[in-house]
Amino acid sequence: MNALNLKACRIIPGKNYGTPKEVWRFRSTPGPADPVVAAHEFLGANGELLGIASLLSDLRKRRPRVLESLGAWHVILQQRHLGRAVHRGYVTVHLDKERRAYLVKSRAVPLDLPTKWVSRISEERAWREALGSLSMSPSKAPAMSLKQVWFPARKLIHPAYKIRVHREQPRSEWIIYVHAETGRILSKYDNLARVSWTARVFDPNPVIAAPEWQPLTQSGKVRRPPDDAYKTVELGDLKGRGDRLDGARVSTTLTNHPIVSRDHRLTTGSTQPGFEEAMAYYHIDRAVRYLETLGYTGPRAIFADPVPVTARGTRQDNSWYSPSMKCLVFGTGGVDDAEDAEVILHELGHAIQDAICPDFGQSSEAAAMGEGFGDYFAASFFADRKPARFQPTFASWDALSSPALREGDPPCTRRLDEPATYESFDHSPRADEHENGQIWSAALWEIWNALGREVADRIIIDSHFQLDGFTMFARGARAILDADANLFQGQHVEALRDVFRRRGIGPVE
Ligand SMILES: [Zn+2]
Repeated sequence: MNALNLKACRIIPGKNYGTPKEVWRFRSTPGPADPVVAAHEFLGANGELLGIASLLSDLRKRRPRVLESLGAWHVILQQRHLGRAVHRGYVTVHLDKERRAYLVKSRAVPLDLPTKWVSRISEERAWREALGSLSMSPSKAPAMSLKQVWFPARKLIHPAYKIRVHREQPRSEWIIYVHAETGRILSKYDNLARVSWTARVFDPNPVIAAPEWQPLTQSGKVRRPPDDAYKTVELGDLKGRGDRLDGARVSTTLTNHPIVSRDHRLTTGSTQPGFEEAMAYYHIDRAVRYLETLGYTGPRAIFADPVPVTARGTRQDNSWYSPSMKCLVFGTGGVDDAEDAEVILHELGHAIQDAICPDFGQSSEAAAMGEGFGDYFAASFFADRKPARFQPTFASWDALSSPALREGDPPCTRRLDEPATYESFDHSPRADEHENGQIWSAALWEIWNALGREVADRIIIDSHFQLDGFTMFARGARAILDADANLFQGQHVEALRDVFRRRGIGPVE
């Protein structure tokens, strides 16, 4: 491979060793098929220029880590000295698919390397120092591991112990570096500590934020919502460096071109790229936290993994939960679906049912219960933020893009207080499960009004655990009675039976 002409490249100079930290805007000649061999060839031809020629034989000793992305290879070489890793001492070579290098980064320490790794404190003492820095007593020693490493500080590298301390309550994973000669703490950080973003979102949507604000539509078109339709919120618990909306409870990184923000802010509004992701992230994260407060946490957690979302997944005016992908997909036809938090929670309702009861909805009644539960879950969650006349309604912002729905008073996609009973259930093959679902959501909404949000939510969610994917209204109703017996010693049995009798659902005696 050819040597670089550094004058033509872009360079970020390093502070301490006079060597470049990052070099780009070049493309080498194509390398051999193995990206590792190609990376070594590139470094061999450019070691002098990069100021790391003296390290090359050490960098060759172990096979580096190789990441393959769609368009490139990324070869990550760890600097080692006298058999021990140098903390942050990486050299990375980035190659395109023809193995032409186009970027190289170096954090390696090339100068004044000690001739011996010397320790003056024992491993025991290093452990005690590490635990002491976390105010933990050695008697309750949590799981730990210890390694000898080099720790760079300014120009020199120092012998150090790298100690990992893993703790369940509160959950943390500390990495602590202790100076092997002095016992001083060189660095400590909690690897599980999470980043958050500041974002502007709708909560749940612009119609609720300004219910009398009719000009949200003009000549049949939905207009851009006014500034006070937004609320500034925190998107919490992001993983890693937190540059993407990839968190502990939800991840939107499946979205096409997912949003990346290095300053962790997304505050412009609904026309800004990433707005739908921020909406999905915020509302799903908060809803799953709410499930945790109901008791669905630890071994009872409903979701084993963060809920995956593609926030702009289709151009249709439609959204769905994909049971095979375990993923929520939001459409951008009409009003972008993920701009209405009630639509987001409706789809999350499907995910909740599928997580508890795999493949829920394989009969017409079960499918209707799925739609009814999604509407209920959204309406229950947002009721305390809505004016009374909007409480029994679902998705008023999404409704504005539909001429028929926007004429409603108030406008909404569906209601939860239709007078329908089980008698009007349409069993024909062309029946609409959303329509039929309004019988079920109306029963659930009556339960909500009779028992209050928290009791109703717990009973209704817990009832799913004894259902199967082919269930029916009558069995669903009996499961709700059983859940009340299990959770509340049947305190609400009469109120519940009244609701189901009124809606013609049963028998529930
Ligand atoms: Zn649905």
